[in-house]
Amino acid sequence: MNQENYKLPGGVEFSSITYEDILWQTGVFRYERTGSGRDKITFYWNAVKTKLGEIEEKNWCRLAEALIERENETQLLKDLIQWCTEHNYVKASAAEIRKDALQLHVARFFDDPQWIDFIPFNKKYRPEVLETANIVFVRNECCQKVGPVTQEQIDRSHAGTIACPFCGRWSRYIVLGTRLRPEPLDPCWDCDCNDPDMGCTMPSIDKSYACPLGSTDDKQMEVLDE
Ligand SMILES: [Zn+2]
Repeated sequence: MNQENYKLPGGVEFSSITYEDILWQTGVFRYERTGSGRDKITFYWNAVKTKLGEIEEKNWCRLAEALIERENETQLLKDLIQWCTEHNYVKASAAEIRKDALQLHVARFFDDPQWIDFIPFNKKYRPEVLETANIVFVRNECCQKVGPVTQEQIDRSHAGTIACPFCGRWSRYIVLGTRLRPEPLDPCWDCDCNDPDMGCTMPSIDKSYACPLGSTDDKQMEVLDE
């Protein structure tokens, strides 16, 4: 994007704009008619309402990308695009995915613990973010497996339900425990046998081949063998 040639609404300088300024408030559909009779032509375009004013959608995308580049967050955008591509259940086009990722990026969803993908996304791309997160272990009715969510997701639970950390469905849940900080991230997260109260519950006979850590814990084995 050629920043010098692109006029921002209200004559704002590109160097002074922030993510908040261009936060996608709503998408709007616009048209304009010119000429009359047979020469009548109608132009259509999509626009985005922002704090700065209305910006044509394709310009909004270019502007968002330029801002991300200015903030040295191009890699983070790439990660978001990859994430959205891997979770593209509605079969959106590549251009739509890119637009969705730009919206998520500008709104800084990856920093919001209420975002349903906050834990899995950051676990994959920014594990350091999770070190200070408020992690709660729950078991949802649907999958009956122990998994992590954030306290903030529990705080905004809807009618006693939260999004299941395994299947994403909103279902009833029970809280099993809270991660104590600054305890390091539990390396057993990916393992269905991890229980926040009991620790590893994998039978010792399976550990040698099924444990992602590949270690054995004698004390734990004794308890389980009883
Ligand atoms: Zn589930």
